[in-house]
Amino acid sequence: MISVSNIHAQQYETTRKISCDVSSKDLPEYLVFDGETNQPLNAPAYLCDWIAIALLYPAMLRGAPLHIEGPISPTLLFNLNNDIQDLLRHFNPALFKIQITALPAGMTSSKPGTDTGSGFSAGVDSFATLAVHTSGDTAPFYQLSSLSTFNVGAMGPVAGSAAIYQRYCQRVQKFATQSGLNWTTVNSNLSDFYVEADANFIRTSTLRNIAAVLFFQDLHKCYLYSSSYSYSHTNQSHAEITYYESILLPLLSTENIVFTLACAGLERSQKIAKVAAYPPSRHLLDVCVSPTETRDTIQKNNCSQCRKCTRTMLNLDILGVLEDFSDVFDLEYFRANREAIIKQCAIGALKRLPLDSDVIQLMRAAGHDARLPLFDRVKLNSRKAKAKLRAALSMSS
Ligand SMILES: [Zn+2]
Repeated sequence: MISVSNIHAQQYETTRKISCDVSSKDLPEYLVFDGETNQPLNAPAYLCDWIAIALLYPAMLRGAPLHIEGPISPTLLFNLNNDIQDLLRHFNPALFKIQITALPAGMTSSKPGTDTGSGFSAGVDSFATLAVHTSGDTAPFYQLSSLSTFNVGAMGPVAGSAAIYQRYCQRVQKFATQSGLNWTTVNSNLSDFYVEADANFIRTSTLRNIAAVLFFQDLHKCYLYSSSYSYSHTNQSHAEITYYESILLPLLSTENIVFTLACAGLERSQKIAKVAAYPPSRHLLDVCVSPTETRDTIQKNNCSQCRKCTRTMLNLDILGVLEDFSDVFDLEYFRANREAIIKQCAIGALKRLPLDSDVIQLMRAAGHDARLPLFDRVKLNSRKAKAKLRAALSMSS
């Protein structure tokens, strides 16, 4: 049994910190979320939905029933005890089905939220959401009005994440203020509850991020969760929970907040085209996944050499807009290594990696005839492998 008690909130005008004791055999003794926003906060949020989502996966991994000495949204509690767990067990058969209990949800926040929020990482997915959901074409309910940054694992272990979290907080605050949007930031020790390899960030990212959104549930009516993959890749792999987001997110909605997967109708290259036409991205785009030590030594936002950097530069180059991004990428490095970068993506497409397949498809659609010379340059060992590569490149047309 994992039991959560002594839920203690400290709230001031624009800050909220809630901690709770966690009683269990091998988990940390307490969970704490510490948030800030630019808006005056109303009544402290009594709903403990964020705690339930934060501890769901660790509890299922252990087969331990979860009890929370606080109220949870009835809709969410029902889904937590039913379809959410069934879906997660389809994603990871090593998880156990458990029972989740909480106090009756009689005392909820009095004023419903008004913002439609989204996360801001300055990457392609978040800029695509911004471009689409701040345009005049979007429905009023989906008009983006708030941006957020959460420290729930993407910045590495809790102990070493303070400096980068600080930097990301300043980035979201500055960009939101300049754009006339609200903002929220949430720090936490959540990563300490996800130390097993089976609970690493890419296997649990959605649950961790949604826990942080629910911490400020009273500020939001809707949250646009930027998709990593398009609908066409739903349930394609059990490696990352992001492949399940289109099914999982609606189940995490409550009476007060609707979760929507943003831009999942677009393939990666279509998102990059939206981002390229959205001027703020030209100075802020940050897709890099190289280690912090590497990034501390470079002048621009991106290292320009990791797979995410090179693939994005290739995509922008095919669209004919790479020059617009000279502030954030090393274009000389790209030009010197273009052929090798294409080859890397072609091999990724052969392995059916969605983002590589997409950029190769874009090359073909744009009429680039680099693919046949490219094919000759790819050193594959067998005739069969060559045939597969040829089929993959042709399939992606
Ligand atoms: Zn990089």
